[in-house]
Amino acid sequence: MIVPMLDLKAQYASIKAEIDKAVNEVMAAQHFILGRWVEECERAVAEYCRCAHGIGVSSGTDALLVSLMAEGIGPGDEVITTPYTFFATAGVIARLGAKPVFVDIDPVTFNMAPERLEAAVTSKTRAVIPVHLFGQTADMDPILAVTRKKGLIVIEDAAQAIGAECGDRRAGSMSPYGCLSFFPSKNLGAAGDGGMVVTTDSERADKLRCLRAHGSKPKYHHRLIGGNFRLDTIQAAVVLVKLAHLDSWTAARQRNADRYDRLFRDSGLPLAEAGSAVTRAMTGKALPWIVLPARGRGRHIFNQYVLRVPERDRLREHLLEQGVSTEVYYPVPMHLQECFAYLGHKPGDFPESERAAAQTIALPIYPELTDKQAEYVVQNIDDFYRGGL
Ligand SMILES: *Cc1c(COP(=O)(O)O)cnc(C)c1O
Repeated sequence: MIVPMLDLKAQYASIKAEIDKAVNEVMAAQHFILGRWVEECERAVAEYCRCAHGIGVSSGTDALLVSLMAEGIGPGDEVITTPYTFFATAGVIARLGAKPVFVDIDPVTFNMAPERLEAAVTSKTRAVIPVHLFGQTADMDPILAVTRKKGLIVIEDAAQAIGAECGDRRAGSMSPYGCLSFFPSKNLGAAGDGGMVVTTDSERADKLRCLRAHGSKPKYHHRLIGGNFRLDTIQAAVVLVKLAHLDSWTAARQRNADRYDRLFRDSGLPLAEAGSAVTRAMTGKALPWIVLPARGRGRHIFNQYVLRVPERDRLREHLLEQGVSTEVYYPVPMHLQECFAYLGHKPGDFPESERAAAQTIALPIYPELTDKQAEYVVQNIDDFYRGGL
């Protein structure tokens, strides 16, 4: 049996007629830059995120970049985020000449540990970018308490978390800038790159709209130095079609996560709760348990289903031999990336992020994953440890 990490062909097969029709309409109109599809997509996605405005942009990365640009962040400024994220979160800070400052993660949720935030704030800190990793929001209330107290701007990296909730608030709606990605592997994926900033603030919405098109307003008059960060019209048409299916896909991902949980609990493999003290005590080499993903209080959209496991790399090889693809998000935390060597960090600076990078494995969780495939995945993990531990 083959179990891929993601099966976009299965998803396309289920909505082919709708997608083809939408793309053909754009082709017939030969209208490729902004226009009605982009506007409709912006309205619909913003509404889904319970925000007043959506500004379609070229990628999740550019959503983050243009948000920082709108705040005028640059050399001399510090921006706080977590080291356990996709590169883009830290990359955009550095690209603007600002300094990425890291705050370690909570080992249970993999999101920024709010109790560590305040100590990282300096007189140069301008903004905080909490990342809603794997489809679960960061613990926003204590983060927002610090940012309010210190007068810092919050930019949510909600690239993996469209529709996730913190209490009853949607990812992206808890700050002036909710940054979404339509990269094909995200829960709401385009047919290429795309992204959006959602916001409830009309002034910021206007500024973002201006910045994403070279800062031009009116045409050929530039008050701001922007860039070409527009969402393609074809991508907007695709996203608009897919948005109508998002809640059913999310429900399928949640069912898959529940099924994995159940299969692991029934397997007899040694499990530890993510919330227990053992999680904290574990080291990369001597992890004696499998730790299932923790679920907080809010809606988890399971962009990824991520375990901590012993012998992670050997397990991945074993699974691949059996036809099961897995992924590691992310093997090297940001503070240890070569390109950030100038920040002067060393191993041990953010131990929770380093442990997570060494221990985690993401299993296939896409909506079309079948019962049989999930059973096959867990059976092969069981086989590996029976033979190995
Ligand atoms: C995917 C992702 C991004 C970047 O989105 P792109 O659309 O690929 O540019 C940023 N942050 C996180 C956490 C992501 O997962």
